[in-house]
Amino acid sequence: MSDLLIRNATLRDGRSGIDVLATGGRIVDVAPRIDADAATTIDAQGLLLSPPFVDAHFHMDSTLSYGLPRVNRSGTLLEGIALWGELKPTLTQDAIVERALSYCDWAVAKGLLAIRSHVDVCDPRLLAVEALLHVQEKVKPWLDLQLVAFPQDGVLRSAGALDRLQRALAMGVDVVGGIPHFERSMADGAESVRVLCELAAEQGRLVDMHCDETDDPSSRHIETLAFHAQRLGLQGRVTGSHLTSMHSMDNYYVSKLIPLMRDAQVHAIANPLINITLQGRHDTYPKRRGMTRVPELMAAGVNVAFGHDCVMDPWYALGSGDMLEVAAMGLHVAQMTGEDGMRACFEAVTENAAQILQLDGYGIAVGNRADFVLLQARDPVEAIRLRATRLKVFRAGKVVAETPAATAALHLPGRPTSVDWSLRR
Ligand SMILES: [Zn+2]
Repeated sequence: MSDLLIRNATLRDGRSGIDVLATGGRIVDVAPRIDADAATTIDAQGLLLSPPFVDAHFHMDSTLSYGLPRVNRSGTLLEGIALWGELKPTLTQDAIVERALSYCDWAVAKGLLAIRSHVDVCDPRLLAVEALLHVQEKVKPWLDLQLVAFPQDGVLRSAGALDRLQRALAMGVDVVGGIPHFERSMADGAESVRVLCELAAEQGRLVDMHCDETDDPSSRHIETLAFHAQRLGLQGRVTGSHLTSMHSMDNYYVSKLIPLMRDAQVHAIANPLINITLQGRHDTYPKRRGMTRVPELMAAGVNVAFGHDCVMDPWYALGSGDMLEVAAMGLHVAQMTGEDGMRACFEAVTENAAQILQLDGYGIAVGNRADFVLLQARDPVEAIRLRATRLKVFRAGKVVAETPAATAALHLPGRPTSVDWSLRR
């Protein structure tokens, strides 16, 4: 007998009436009307069964610290970085662990089962690194936490940061991070990209840099990043996060840049909730949106994911670990309101992000891990529109979270007694 049988699900490619059979934590069959018995059988009632959400860009060491030691009055990126600098010396490992575990609980409840988190390596004690390595181990049975060694204060600008970054990697952090636009000069920014890419190539690591998170169109470190990715044979292993300066760049320059990114197989991550609030702060009117060129990158064949980036921390007071909220914001900011565009925004918080993390066995197919989310929606677009309730979240074939269906009782004469938000199509 198998462990789990889900009957009558709709998949995100539109196939409906699909059964999914899992045993030993793996998917063993995906087909209409599977003839099998299982210890647990669940009727999906034609609703969407999606692979879990994946957040390709997050900061787990600062999450849920909103208001500590004070709130960000201006709401700007630079005050956020200054505030984080004030908070850092007062951090304790226990507090970081506790907040991170609480956030992971939120994530699992929202069907978010894989997160790439940057961890600041500029603190000489490397407290956050130790804390998040502990959290990574602790949540492993239910959530994949991938860590990026992130030199928040600049790997060249901050004395000793390169040593600490290497120490963090030796301690078990997975990915090489960077922040070239925060170095003291364009030349230092470019040099930091070279140094970090070479380090990654030597050690066989992935790279993910905060890159050009500015409205300055002359911030072109993404070009340098793509160049070194190609030079060092790191195709498909390098990611540029944010890339907001691309919003303000000259179109001619971008017409050269995007093909270079594609040829170097550099992934791009936009963080729509954060980019729309932090960019354009030096503008009066018109105010730039400051998100990177998502539809143009996708059309050129660059893999683009959306990240949550921040939840209740020095940079962002809101958020709940809901990647459908992230997808909805990305969809609006990028004006991806066509049918294909809306579906692509769902991919940006599932499949595209999984590719960046190089997750093993992701997706609803035979042989993959039996991780999925049953949503109270019939298709990906409806899921985004309704920020659909995660009815059941499965990890390795077991239910790890459940939320009751969203409904409302109506007390209106001559009308139905409850609301149905879906529109039958
Ligand atoms: Zn970030």
